[in-house]
Amino acid sequence: MGPKRIAYVDHALQLGGAQKSLLELVARLDRRRFSPVLLCAEGAEWLDRPELEGVEQVPVFEASPLLEQRRDQLHPSVLRSRGQLLGGLTPVLRLRRALRAVKADLVHTNTLKAHFLGGAAGRLSGLPVLWHVRDILDPGPARTWLLRASKLLRPQVIAISQAVAAQFASQNVPVELIYNGIPLDHFTPGQPDPSLRRGLQLSPEDEVLTIVGRLTPWKGHRTLLEALAILSAQRPQVRLLVVGEVAFWEASYGEELEHLAEDLGIADRVSWLGFREDVPQILRLCDLFVLPSVDEPFGRVLIEAMAVGKAVVATRSGGAPEVVLDGETGVLVPPGDEKGLAAALSDLLSDRTRAAAMGQRGLERAQTVFDVNRVVEMVQSLYDRTLAGSRTG
Ligand code: UDP
Repeated sequence: MGPKRIAYVDHALQLGGAQKSLLELVARLDRRRFSPVLLCAEGAEWLDRPELEGVEQVPVFEASPLLEQRRDQLHPSVLRSRGQLLGGLTPVLRLRRALRAVKADLVHTNTLKAHFLGGAAGRLSGLPVLWHVRDILDPGPARTWLLRASKLLRPQVIAISQAVAAQFASQNVPVELIYNGIPLDHFTPGQPDPSLRRGLQLSPEDEVLTIVGRLTPWKGHRTLLEALAILSAQRPQVRLLVVGEVAFWEASYGEELEHLAEDLGIADRVSWLGFREDVPQILRLCDLFVLPSVDEPFGRVLIEAMAVGKAVVATRSGGAPEVVLDGETGVLVPPGDEKGLAAALSDLLSDRTRAAAMGQRGLERAQTVFDVNRVVEMVQSLYDRTLAGSRTG
């Protein structure tokens, strides 16, 4: 018997945490047991990543107005066609054809739209469906529809945190908790590259805070800028590195944040670095890592910072408390509380011994709990069980 064909479905055009996690999984699959194929969006930006070398790609999501818009060309009328995109039968039929053509044995969906469309196509083809759920949805239509679809499509769900799993609590669907992992050989502690510090015009005395993540409201950049304004009054050397870019559908949000920094009088303390490939280097350079998100489903960046040995300041919200142990590997504050955030950052900047001890414990936790190889093993074991169940079921 040859390897089982796993069809991954992901509609995203831009590379986010979900796509990084998928790439790392696919690159490490045991190819004697599983043969991956990616059903993706035409022209997605992340399809030339080295992890996908030798992986067959089938563009199934046609450049629709929503998918195709780049952030610099975004027009509000595009958003009105979202319903059209979700509701249309065409992508389901196209996916179904593709599943047949690639001789899929199992459908593994990686994004919200893929859960609906790939899930429906998978069921229509008589295949087992696995939803890798990476979102926490606000109560509202999207969440209601996701839960309804889970009843109808009966997927095996992978939840990346208990907070994500909790959304399915009242549903009769099997949910397996598999925390995200990262390549630990890539995120290691060590001395930062001195040229990077110079390049970023940081002086040796500067106290460097770093946030990594898409510039989108729920990541909490506004709260962080407000906290920085409070902190700046007491600590003249504090600086903030903002790593990440704006999502294409929120083009103006980056400018909004820059204006806020100006209005708060802290523009000279903030460096907007955009999307970076050298996240491990930047993390090594910082004194503290901070992520003040509201309902962060998991936050890969939290474990990346822990794995390079940094103390983390995050929020008591979403999946973050499952990743960052309050008082042990970092400090948790309520979301949206700029005063609390400023106080937590100030305390840790003033007590470097405590911050270093937290960083060390975070490093140990990342190494024992958040290794990507563990994720790969757990997902492969779930494939085996799901495939076995679908044969007998
Ligand atoms: N990332 C990156 N460069 C950037 C911004 C982000 O490589 O400029 C990576 C980051 O290191 C992490 C991922 O993108 O691996 C973001 O994942 P996370 O779960 O933190 O956030 P998401 O994008 O899923 O909301």
